[in-house]
Amino acid sequence: MLKLLTNGLLIAGACVLIGSLIPVRNLITQLPSGQVRRCWYELTVLIVLLIAGYTSYTVTFWNRHSNWSDFIVPSVFFFGAIFVWLTTSLSLQTAFDIRRVTLLEQESITDPLLGIYNRRYLDRRLDEEISRAKRYNLPLSILLIDIDHFKQINDTYGHAIGDELLSHLGKILTNTIRNSDVAARYGGDELLILAQNTPASSAGILGERLRQHVESNKLVSSGKANQQKEIHATVSIGVAGLDPEVTDSKGLIQCADEALYMAKQEGRNCVIIHDINMTKSPASTT
Ligand code: GH3
Ligand code: MG
Repeated sequence: MLKLLTNGLLIAGACVLIGSLIPVRNLITQLPSGQVRRCWYELTVLIVLLIAGYTSYTVTFWNRHSNWSDFIVPSVFFFGAIFVWLTTSLSLQTAFDIRRVTLLEQESITDPLLGIYNRRYLDRRLDEEISRAKRYNLPLSILLIDIDHFKQINDTYGHAIGDELLSHLGKILTNTIRNSDVAARYGGDELLILAQNTPASSAGILGERLRQHVESNKLVSSGKANQQKEIHATVSIGVAGLDPEVTDSKGLIQCADEALYMAKQEGRNCVIIHDINMTKSPASTT
């Protein structure tokens, strides 16, 4: 009876250790290559060595368990194996949970149509960047971008193609700006770029580049070849930079909005940089 119990514990311990290799393998496939993944490979080797140790102990002492004190070592082995299994399973579950939370966080700050940040993220980031720019006395600008006659595009081609155009614009924006710039959907057909370390004059140049990219990259709508449509869209852009008069996000957006309004007044498809008297200073007009 005693022999059966001790040998049973040892075999069960070895089986639990083998079972713990499953969460370890799943975890390794989830991890990117690097230091942490290497450590899990090392842990796999340790578990395999433990399995070999359990097996050789079981074989060596198969017939030698004669009193209750011989029960201690197999018990410790068994609970040690349970500990390894619990640790590896919990690690896998934790990795899944972290991934899920990260994905949810990413979704909560991303506009699903354009694939750029949403207003919620923008509001927070704008305040943070303005505080940082003021503290270190760095320039900072924003570009407010609005699609020209978007209502007409929706009415002519349909809302679905309007959506495609928004998504197309999101891609152009992401491909044109620097990594340090932040692109977000401000609302409706208005997008905003937050350009760090950038004075309004340089932001005007970026705006002009962007305007040209939109103008020259027509959207070819999805669908069968004979149903595809080409949409030539343009944007108007208002640019504003931090200055002694404009020191918070509300004021900055208001200035960019005034400049955008001017761009629309100028006939659209142009970039206007805000100045204190709102004297129109087009970076370019076409
Ligand atoms: P303007 O040149 O003066 O900007 O003219 P506009 O027609 O673009 O006028 P406005 O910017 O006021 O129009 C915004 C339009 O954008 C109205 C609305 O139907 C459309 N819109 C807003 N959000 C979406 C969206 O998610 N998808 C689509 N397809 N259209 C949208
Ligand atoms: Mg518009």
